[in-house]
Amino acid sequence: MKNIHYRGRFAPSPSGALHFGSLVAALGSYLRARHLGGQWLVRIEDIDPPREVPGAADDILRTLEAFGLHWDGAVVYQSQCLANYQAQIDTWLAQGHAYYCQCSRQQIRTMGGIYDGRCQSQHKQHGAIRWHNDQGCQQFNDQLQGHVATDHAFAQEDFIIRRSDGLYAYQLAVVMDDITAGITEVVRGADLLEATVRQISLYQALDAKVPDWLHLPLACQQPGSKLSKQNHATPVDKQHPHAAFSAALAFLGQTPVTMTGNIGDMLAEAVAQFDLEAIPKQKEILLC
Ligand SMILES: [Zn+2]
Repeated sequence: MKNIHYRGRFAPSPSGALHFGSLVAALGSYLRARHLGGQWLVRIEDIDPPREVPGAADDILRTLEAFGLHWDGAVVYQSQCLANYQAQIDTWLAQGHAYYCQCSRQQIRTMGGIYDGRCQSQHKQHGAIRWHNDQGCQQFNDQLQGHVATDHAFAQEDFIIRRSDGLYAYQLAVVMDDITAGITEVVRGADLLEATVRQISLYQALDAKVPDWLHLPLACQQPGSKLSKQNHATPVDKQHPHAAFSAALAFLGQTPVTMTGNIGDMLAEAVAQFDLEAIPKQKEILLC
């Protein structure tokens, strides 16, 4: 069944080479999009320069190609979208839907860990910028994880959309870019499951259609500790992609493919037989 309206994406940050955990997210989002006959886009989330590694963005793209994961259209770089984020923030500031805040982490801890909105009425002129979250989506349905409900206070918090150092917050950038790209379903790791309620609130404030959500299990070395660039996960081997490809497919619960040696053929077989129901409905899976 072809679904020409489906648009999915993979959106890595260039903080290091692609590791097994990010390969799972790339492969899972690719299989889902291609199985439905939809498009699959790639966006580099380079809005946090202090955490970036020079050359990592290109290395990630070459690794996707080595695994046969070819994307549609041009790669989008968030660093080229900063003016969009600022324009939206300026609009919200002018409307009173966003405000400056200088509260420290220590102060927020004394509020019980959730920011209480105290700066909204103080009309400060610098600091971090918080979005006034007056609706507060608290729950949503995930295509894999089912019904997800979050803590009321978390869902209602006025969260930061631009940090005090001037960097734009992930929540704002990801939502604005997914709207611009016309993404119809977001497939990504379950570490972003809870944050989804904040993103839904932003979609609603921006009068945009909320996409479907599909949060894949995370690859973890220990409970609660996902593989990441920060904990020095081993990069996948782009010279010899077959083993990591098969392992990622198995991680997603999919039927093994014929080991032809041609990664393109193996990927096409995996696309044809992709089964959403076979993916474990878990937030994390421990790697042996
Ligand atoms: Zn404050």
